[in-house]
Amino acid sequence: MTVPPDARTRNGPPATLPGRHIQHTRDLTYVSFDPDGLVPTIAQDARTGEMLMLAYANRTSLALTLDTDQMYFWSRSRKEIWRKGATSGNVLSLVSLHVDCDGDAVLAKVRPAGPACHTGARTCFVEPGTHEPEPTVDAPEEEDGSEGQPTFRGGEVLDNLWVTLRSRAAEMPPGSNTARLLADRNLRLKKLGEELVELTVALTRRDPAAITAEAADLLYHLMVALMGAGVSLHSVGAELARRAGDDPPGRRNDP
Ligand SMILES: [Zn+2]
Repeated sequence: MTVPPDARTRNGPPATLPGRHIQHTRDLTYVSFDPDGLVPTIAQDARTGEMLMLAYANRTSLALTLDTDQMYFWSRSRKEIWRKGATSGNVLSLVSLHVDCDGDAVLAKVRPAGPACHTGARTCFVEPGTHEPEPTVDAPEEEDGSEGQPTFRGGEVLDNLWVTLRSRAAEMPPGSNTARLLADRNLRLKKLGEELVELTVALTRRDPAAITAEAADLLYHLMVALMGAGVSLHSVGAELARRAGDDPPGRRNDP
């Protein structure tokens, strides 16, 4: 249930409210993570109300979910972030994100692109005998997140880098170059400018190896600058797709 906007402010900002609606904000303040930094997260079909799956999220995966409008979770067995549907294509597109009354559970209303369960069933909560799971052609991503893609896919490389940057932003580990850049706007803008100049020089010299290295540097610093500015890589991708006359798949229409 979504709390009407006025209910939040009626008595000042209460610590907890049922179904606090955190979509369209960067504010994960009301999520109460357990001592391992995790919160159980239920995905519900926004159209039918059907419960699709339960998985764990951490601060980084929730931030990525808000960045991309696609569900990211934390795998407790593999100890890594995973994007639902990265292997199978059965992504869950975020419609809205909610927390429960005491903030220790998250509800994500989603639009599923296909069966949510890795068994091929529509949901993980099928009653035995009522829905015969159909075999899935893809490896279950909960078991194996490896992509095994033989061809280069630039989007995936950038996606993975964004996940890493998001983790650094959440944890700000000492000694991390990314964390240092995220903490210092002047430094990261200076680096961005330097890298642009270095790439321009390499292009002038027509040195393919240097161009490759400097382009990689520039992309990295561009993405750090975007994250520092609170602009997601995926909104840039959506803008490019819009210019190409594409309707970016899975992207919800902003009101
Ligand atoms: Zn399942």
